Amino acid sequence: MSFMTKLEGVPDSDAAKPGMAFFAGTGPYGATCGDCKLRGYQRQSMKGVWNEKLQQEVFRNYRVTSCQQYRRLTGHHGAPVDKDYPACKYFEAVEKKSPDGRGTDNARQD
Ligand code: SF4
Repeated sequence: MSFMTKLEGVPDSDAAKPGMAFFAGTGPYGATCGDCKLRGYQRQSMKGVWNEKLQQEVFRNYRVTSCQQYRRLTGHHGAPVDKDYPACKYFEAVEKKSPDGRGTDNARQD
């Protein structure tokens, strides 16, 4: 709950979610971060494991649910973004395969 004065058309501090690139709810109506293709990316582990066969340290990749746009804007890895957060203004719809398996079909028709 925010104790700040609410201004019409201006996002409230409640709409600021950790890890999001911009205020929640500023994207297309009804869209969520779960529908956005900028949610999640591959990240390399900080700690490597020595591989005898290769004679070098090997770093593993793993998938995180942080926002790619947040990383572009700040240069840092953000907190994991919940798929149910209302989308922000940088929202980009995930392209889903059409039912017949050919081409792509956006899930949401605007
Ligand atoms: S809508 Fe997309 S760009 Fe915006 S915070 Fe969510 S995942 Fe990131």
